Amino acid sequence: MRDDNCIFCKIINGAIPSNTIYEDDTFQVILDVNPASKGHALILPKEHYANLYEIDEEVAAQAMKLAKKLAAHMTKVLNCDGFNILQNNGEVAGQTVFHFHIHLVPRYKDGKNNDILKWTHEEFTAEELAAICQELSLA
Ligand code: AMP
Ligand code: ZN
Repeated sequence: MRDDNCIFCKIINGAIPSNTIYEDDTFQVILDVNPASKGHALILPKEHYANLYEIDEEVAAQAMKLAKKLAAHMTKVLNCDGFNILQNNGEVAGQTVFHFHIHLVPRYKDGKNNDILKWTHEEFTAEELAAICQELSLA
């Protein structure tokens, strides 16, 4: 399924150009047009899923396997010093393109953007943490 209004579907259809570093039947991996670092890439499933809630479980599992493979390959080629994988869901979480994607972000010791992905902390009491734990427990 594709979404005619989706920019990533348009890339996958070939209607919009991209710098593609990997492609198979299920995925296309492109360089981010606004990279946080050298080599910043995006894993796009060829099917349109808006986010993690909607993606097929098997495709999600394959995407993570591909992320691992590409992280190793990109680290070797780019000689980067670390690596983030990141996946945003919903506007409040920073998602701007509503077609599931995994960011592959190589990190460098002297990188310009080394403060990205650092956040401040929210405080909870021990009682609050226990209540949250109970609320979330799947056991
Ligand atoms: P997110 O904010 O997690 O939804 O990430 C969307 C990413 O897509 C951003 O990092 C954008 O720079 C990137 N992006 C948007 N349009 C394009 C495009 N045409 N080609 C490559 N990357 C894009
Ligand atoms: Zn799409």
